[in-house]
Amino acid sequence: MRVLPAEHTRAIEPGLMGYRIMYHREEANHCPGCGNSNWHIGRLSAQCAFCDTSLPFADGGIISMASPLHI
Ligand SMILES: [Zn+2]
Repeated sequence: MRVLPAEHTRAIEPGLMGYRIMYHREEANHCPGCGNSNWHIGRLSAQCAFCDTSLPFADGGIISMASPLHI
């Protein structure tokens, strides 16, 4: 098994990663590529219906099948 050096094993710290565009559920999201706001919602990301730009969910994704999705 390959062991990574200590500088490659740190946990991801979102506050240190800079500006990232993300899809926020429960909010109006405009596509950074074309400005439209129609999305195909997946389990891990949302994809623009017009230009296929894909954004990760701000809350991490994966919706429980037990709860309805409100967009
Ligand atoms: Zn778009």
